[in-house]
Order: sequence, then structure tokens, then C-alpha cells
Amino acid sequence: MKVPFSFLTDQFESPDTILSKIRESLKRCDFTLGKDLTEFEKKYAKETGCKHAIGVGSGTDALFLSLKAVGVGSGDEVITVPNSFIATTGAVVQAGARPVYVDCDASLNIDPEKIEAAITPKTKAILPVHWAGGPCAIEEILKIANKHGIPLVEDACQALGAEWDGKKIGSFGMVAGFSVHPLKPLHVWGDGGVITTNDDAIASRIQILRNHGLVDRDTVSTYGYNSRFDNVQAIVGNCVFETLEATIEKRIRYAKVLDEAFSTEELRSHITLPSRAKEGKHVFHLYQFQVKERDKLLKHLIENGIEAKIHYPIPLHLQPAAHSFGYRKGDFPCAERQSEQSITLPCHQYLNENHLQYMIDTVSNFFL
Ligand SMILES: *Cc1c(COP(=O)(O)O)cnc(C)c1O
Repeated sequence: MKVPFSFLTDQFESPDTILSKIRESLKRCDFTLGKDLTEFEKKYAKETGCKHAIGVGSGTDALFLSLKAVGVGSGDEVITVPNSFIATTGAVVQAGARPVYVDCDASLNIDPEKIEAAITPKTKAILPVHWAGGPCAIEEILKIANKHGIPLVEDACQALGAEWDGKKIGSFGMVAGFSVHPLKPLHVWGDGGVITTNDDAIASRIQILRNHGLVDRDTVSTYGYNSRFDNVQAIVGNCVFETLEATIEKRIRYAKVLDEAFSTEELRSHITLPSRAKEGKHVFHLYQFQVKERDKLLKHLIENGIEAKIHYPIPLHLQPAAHSFGYRKGDFPCAERQSEQSITLPCHQYLNENHLQYMIDTVSNFFL
């Protein structure tokens, strides 16, 4: 049996509805920031419970422009995590700031208890990641941010639909960045990102920054960027939106089956599941666990047709690009353990019960 990691070939097997809407839109010729984007932004705002949602060029741009909008610039520090996709740190560096890492805890999200020790007079934002679609302890982090008067920017790129205590992720911080890259559960046919905020001033700053700093056709109020969302992609996004709820529901159901199978008496001593906060609604962008014999298990899974992955084998503070920040191996034990021991199983909406059982059996065979 084959268990594919990607869901895209299944999802776009019959793209006719989307293609006919795109063909229709060509008559209007509104290619960037068009009418379909306005509809997409409205849907996104509703889904995240935010007053504003603003489409931009990518998830990385969503984070970068969010950091710019809260005032991060050259010489500043931004508190973030070493266990994320490179784009989180990339956005910080692109804004001219220095990433100050704080280790994760057993949830694989930033350890809120370690944040205050990392704050300095130069700290201009806290940028936690809702890793794998599992919300970080956002209320506690927000309290720390407010106490110190530091803006909270959420990296929600993996977490559309996730919640903390019944409130949507992306609506806690001053601003949040999302990605609609094809690997994310709500995606388009290329790059795109969305920024959400309840703050009118930040929303208008971002609307200006994404479009060259133009306040109207002829007037530039500040030097900005070209980070617009293509209207054609918004058409795709609007169609994919229709399946979002069912996608999330299925991923949560599948993850529960896997969690239960891996928590049995026999497997518990081999497999460590991330801790899952009871206040959190996890949307399982990734389904991960940790094992000591990770590389051997990965090989075993791949040989048996299961397209497991590692997210990610090198933590951000040990990347060659991070050399000048002066971090060393041993600085962030939890993130380093994740890079050495964690494995990601396919857990998406196009799998069925047989795939799940096959993955459970294949993992069990390895240990038992
Ligand atoms: C995908 C992702 C990003 C960046 O998104 P792009 O759309 O690829 O630029 C940022 N942070 C995290 C945690 C991500 O998973």
C-alpha cells in the first residue's frame, strides 16, 4: 500500500469549476487586488474572527509586513522559536531585526516560561509559531507581551481554523500572518499569504505597504513593497474554502485515531506524542511524534510505502545562515531533540481508514 504525503493530486483531480471561474474572470481583467480577492479576504476575516484580512504575496511576506507594521526595523530584536520553517526567522531578518530564540516545550511550541528572560530593551515584537497547527499558549504569551508593551505577532501559517479556548488563532495578537502555499490546508495554485488584525491603523498601514506605499493612484505616503495577491489565486482560494471545515474535521478525527493507537501500553514507551493543551483546538497541518530510533523508523516507513517526512532535521539556530547570531548546539535542547527525533506521518483529508490502519501496523511492526 502507498500512503502519500501530499493531497494535491486528489484535491484537484477535477478542476473544471475553478477553471471556468478563472475563464470568466479574464473578461474583467482585474488581475491583482481584484473583486475575487475582496471576497477571499472577507471569508478569511470571518474564519479567523478578525475585523480585517489582507491578502499579500506569500506567508513570508505576511510575517514580514506584519513586523514592519508594528514598527520592527533595523537593530531591533524579535523573540521567536528555533523550531519552525525558515520563513519565520527569514521574515525577522528581512525586517532588519535579529532573531532571539526561546526554546519550545513538550507541546513543541514556545515555552512561555522562558520568554521574559529573553526580553531586552531592543525587543520590538514576540513572534510565536502555532507549530503543526497546534495553538501555542497564546493567552499566557499575550499577557507577557502586554505587561512589557511589546507587540505580539502570531505566525499562524500552519494554523488556519485552530482555536484557543474557543477563540480563533490569528485573533489574539496585534496582527497575525497566514500562508496559502499549496502545502497548507487552505491553499491556492502558487504563493500567497494573508494578514489578519482587529486594529484599523495596522490594517491600513499594511494595505499601503503591500502596494508600493500608494495611498491613491498618484500619492506615495511611505516607501512600500509589491506584495499583492493575484486575483486568479483568490478564485482558487474561494473554491478551496468550501471544503475547509470538512478538511479540518477529518484531520482531527484521523489524528485522534493515531494518537490512541500510539498511546497503548506497548507503544507508549517508544513513542512520545507532543503534549496537547486541553484549551487548544489543533488542526493537524502536520501529525508528528518523537522516537529515539527516528532515522531507522523513517527508513522502515518509506520502504513500506509510507511517505513520512522530517520537519525539520536542522533547527534554525544551527543553520549555516545563522552563524553570526552566535548560537551553539545545546542552546535549545527541546528544539534540538525535535530535529533529531521527530517524524511526520501523512494525516490528510484524502486518506481513508485503511491507510490509517496500515500506518499503525507498520509503526507497530517496527517496535514490537
Ligand atoms: C509555510 C510557513 C511560512 C511561510 O509561508 P510561505 O507562504 O511559504 O512564504 C511561515 N511560517 C511557517 C511556520 C510556515 O509553515
